Amino acid sequence: MALRRRVERVLSRVERPARYIDSEWGSVRDRDATHRTVLAYPDTYEIGQSNQALAILYARINAKTGFSAERTYVPWVDMSSEMRGEKIPLFSLESVTPVAEFDIVGITLPYELTYTNILELLDLAGIPLRASDRTDRHPLVVGGGPCAYNPEPLAPFFDAIVIGEGEDVVLDVVRSHRDARDAGLSRQDTLASLARIPGVYVPSLYEVDGEGGLRAADPAPSVVVKRVVSDLGAHSPPVCGIVPFMDVVHDRVGVEVFRGCTRGCRFCQAGMVYRPVRERRADDIVRDVMAGLAHTGYDEVSLTSLSTTDHSQIEEVVRRLTNRLDGTGVSVSLPSLRVDAFSVEMARLVSAGRTSGLTLAPEAGTQRMRDVINKNVTEDELITTITHAFKSGWRRVKLYFMIGLPTETDADIEEIGHLVSRVLACARAEVKPDERGSVRIAVSVSTLVPKAHTPFQWLGQVSLDEVRRRQQVLRSTMPRKGVDLAWHDAEVSFLEGVMARGGRELADAIEAAWRAGARFDAWTERFDLRVWLDAFSSAGVDPEAVAGRSYGAHDALPWDHISCGVSRTYLWRELERAQRGASTEDCTFSVCTGCDVCTGLGVDTVLGGDRRGTG
Ligand code: SF4
Repeated sequence: MALRRRVERVLSRVERPARYIDSEWGSVRDRDATHRTVLAYPDTYEIGQSNQALAILYARINAKTGFSAERTYVPWVDMSSEMRGEKIPLFSLESVTPVAEFDIVGITLPYELTYTNILELLDLAGIPLRASDRTDRHPLVVGGGPCAYNPEPLAPFFDAIVIGEGEDVVLDVVRSHRDARDAGLSRQDTLASLARIPGVYVPSLYEVDGEGGLRAADPAPSVVVKRVVSDLGAHSPPVCGIVPFMDVVHDRVGVEVFRGCTRGCRFCQAGMVYRPVRERRADDIVRDVMAGLAHTGYDEVSLTSLSTTDHSQIEEVVRRLTNRLDGTGVSVSLPSLRVDAFSVEMARLVSAGRTSGLTLAPEAGTQRMRDVINKNVTEDELITTITHAFKSGWRRVKLYFMIGLPTETDADIEEIGHLVSRVLACARAEVKPDERGSVRIAVSVSTLVPKAHTPFQWLGQVSLDEVRRRQQVLRSTMPRKGVDLAWHDAEVSFLEGVMARGGRELADAIEAAWRAGARFDAWTERFDLRVWLDAFSSAGVDPEAVAGRSYGAHDALPWDHISCGVSRTYLWRELERAQRGASTEDCTFSVCTGCDVCTGLGVDTVLGGDRRGTG
């Protein structure tokens, strides 16, 4: 029986069958392509379908004659068990083709807790988990995405991993693979040709040396430098191609307004690895919003970036959009706001602002701590912003904080609770007495994971027991009335820390955890640290030591063979400045602060106008 028919027969037995059916509006099926890629997101359809990077790659490949891209996601546990029972292999949505029959399987690496899902994808597809066990008849398994900046825990499972922005390199990879295949090259020679493409890391060509670093074999470069797009305007993003049949996490048109962020928060990996800042032009943004809405029929558009109100033309963009969309019922949202009154004003101008609540990230309770992490925001600014917001009609605000920060003391943590009390009092003072009951402050607290390619990369993560103790310290000073306190689970942060900070030794543990049933670890109801602790122990790995290890200035780091362009010298200098509590300015507001990314990559900061320099 045809695979499509067999899939359809099991759909009535699983929850949300719309996850597994094809022909959504905007999806592409190219029957004439001679080289076929399937793009996989290692989580459910509704999470993966919202991913903008995959949408870009999908559009880029499908726009090239002779090449096609389809999609696949990880079946939820009910579906995977039906598929195993009925011997249905993992298939693509567009043509219900077994994933193992594609030329390339491209898997995005969005988050450390999706690692077991990657093995689930490969296993359901019938592809050997380890690259070393694959032969010429297997597809090439290629990774890419945020977690590629420390690829080592996953290295043995991938034939190649792309570092950096995918727009250009994705075409280099598919062309190189097509040429190698057509020339009849062996798998090994194919991998060697891929290793010559800038930004492509072929793990099998690197060996762990005695110092904890990696040694490259010819023709692989000793350091793989990320790919970067110099002119975002030259790459028109997809007109938000696909409209799903079911609710997905971001059910709206997403338009990227700029890439990169040079605010320089020292904990933030995205702020370092996506440098330099490249703004898109106001005309292009407005054009893409209107085209996306017309194509999809969505009634919401989100202007995305790491800090949207930093865009030098954001006022113009917002004004033009509100004029064009007036009376259409379409709302505009700015998902990432700075703690400043200007951001609140911008959010107020777009229609979704008041209803959705406001989200601000002071990150720490004391000025000393905010200086350590380079969060250039003062308490006065926060209070002014809150005053402005509640005066403008908001009744709810969400505040993000972090604990486990370098040099943090109990007094710093207690001050988070005191700061929230002051925010609450200020918010209540701005509303009429009979409305004060509706004032809510949601406080969300996460634990620092010192990530690769940040100034904190040399520092170990605070231990699990210590995080739990610090959470209690915070709880004791947090006001209860009017405040909803939520934690990022300490055990989850711990596992993130192990995966973010470890090397190749973790691959065996990931495989052992998957074999013991770990799947969808990012889903609270599925996460079980005990399974992981057993897996670490069977692989001979001490997870506390991996996450908690601190490094010296000259020690080899597990990700030293990967470069995001920001120099090690700059990161170390930023670590020293953190320890002195000295802040560093944003180069798009002042002068170059010497991270070396522009010179190193030959790509300049691109601004459409002058940025506002206020915090
Ligand atoms: S090299 Fe200078 S201008 Fe370029 S991103 Fe780094 S700090 Fe900014």
